[in-house]
Amino acid sequence: MGTADAAAQVTLYEKWKKIYPLSLYGGYQRWRRVVLSGLVAIYYVGPWLQLNGHPLFWLNLPERKFVVFGVTYWPQEFVLVSWLLMLSAFGLFIVTVVAGRVWCGWACPQTVWTLVYFFIEQKIEGPRTQRMRLDRRAWDLQRTGKKLLKWTLWAGVAFSISFTFMAYFLRPEVLIEKILTLSLSRGEWFWLSFPAAASYLFSGVLREQVCFHMCPYARFQSVMFDRDTLIIAYNEERGEPRGHKPRRPDPAAPVGGDCVDCKRCVHACPTGIDIRDGLQYQCIACAACIDACDEVMLELGQETNLIRYSSQHRDRGETVSRLRPRLVGYAAVFSAILLGFVWTVGHRIPLELDIIRDRGRLYREHWDGSIENTYRLRIVNRENGSRRYELRAEADFPFELKTLHGSVVEIAPGEQLAIGVQLVAHATPEAAENRPVYFVVETIDEPHYVVREESRFIQPSTQSSTRPSTQPSTQPSTQPSKQPAGQTSGADPR
Ligand code: SF4
Ligand code: SF4
Repeated sequence: MGTADAAAQVTLYEKWKKIYPLSLYGGYQRWRRVVLSGLVAIYYVGPWLQLNGHPLFWLNLPERKFVVFGVTYWPQEFVLVSWLLMLSAFGLFIVTVVAGRVWCGWACPQTVWTLVYFFIEQKIEGPRTQRMRLDRRAWDLQRTGKKLLKWTLWAGVAFSISFTFMAYFLRPEVLIEKILTLSLSRGEWFWLSFPAAASYLFSGVLREQVCFHMCPYARFQSVMFDRDTLIIAYNEERGEPRGHKPRRPDPAAPVGGDCVDCKRCVHACPTGIDIRDGLQYQCIACAACIDACDEVMLELGQETNLIRYSSQHRDRGETVSRLRPRLVGYAAVFSAILLGFVWTVGHRIPLELDIIRDRGRLYREHWDGSIENTYRLRIVNRENGSRRYELRAEADFPFELKTLHGSVVEIAPGEQLAIGVQLVAHATPEAAENRPVYFVVETIDEPHYVVREESRFIQPSTQSSTRPSTQPSTQPSTQPSKQPAGQTSGADPR
């Protein structure tokens, strides 16, 4: 063989071999189907769920409000999202330390949707051997017809995933109307097509390749494993030496292990690995090899669990430790974050008050010696319904609160109201130039919320109190103005 020929045979990448997993229905696979069907159902019904006439989940980007379990959150509360992300991360760490890659095999969206696409495939193309035979056939009528039907149904699934994804942002009824009237914007068309294409490609076509080459979790999760982490393992002691068992065993021949080397566990594996070679990063802990091997063992009248959930310590007969330092550490951080999150959500007040002082002038002196300070209050109703609020001020000196809008205001859900108010007080020589004053906004109806914010009342120094103000008069508007809650005034709140 010439040098050129030898070089031509060296490939840098392993050729992709299509995997034809066995269809299994019993054992762990039954429970997996129940869990995965539940997750799919939650995903699909999520956008349609309502609570007291309001959506349960709605990521309303244009109005910048996010409804989660019927409670509306605003961009200012995005800190809660970071809490949630931290909780999810540490929750996943704990699950990984305890149960290995159970997330991958039982709840990961890639696994869930791959099973949905696979379900359609096996319904149309048949069991493993028929699927393999079909792919070896020429493109005759039967193969073309089955493939076209499969791809069409896959496209339907992909579209339903995309539609539901968009419905979390746009509301399903609005989305249906927009699709029927072809009035989606270009961006909306993109977001209706992109998740569909991604889902079709990743879960329908690429499947295990996504876990091998694209998922970062598959690569770093092994650092969280310890010797007590639950893994799927082949009982080598019992299974080896593997080999076919003759019907009439030779009494003189050495006794083999329980593994009959039928390779059913390999054929069942959606990632195409042989678990008998030991723990591998491609294993997504789906437990299909356990079910496949159990079926074989039952047929042979042997004990099941030749492949089973185990751990390195258990395999070696060593003491299994439940409370490990790593687990305790993750659990402690998780509990601390959870407590903080629950406390923050529990003490959340869906009412906001910002006080913006008149920046053009600190105070204004009246002819009778009284001093006027001007403020602009921004009250935000972060609830799902209209609310009436009572507005008042508190200070340790006598004053008069003036506002053209009255002391009771009504604000629509998700709206904010900006009100100009004046505090008028008589300057007293002994009073400080800068005194605290509190504005209080209180709901009139139940549930009851109160927000109290501090500001300052400024009066001239005693040396200059007899001299009229030389600052320009910029009488603020006392007329209220309404804006959506997500938009804020350009002035700095004080
Ligand atoms: S080795 Fe077993 S548990 Fe791991 S991916 Fe394959 S079938 Fe699933
Ligand atoms: S299914 Fe069980 S008996 Fe068959 S090869 Fe796998 S481990 Fe051996």
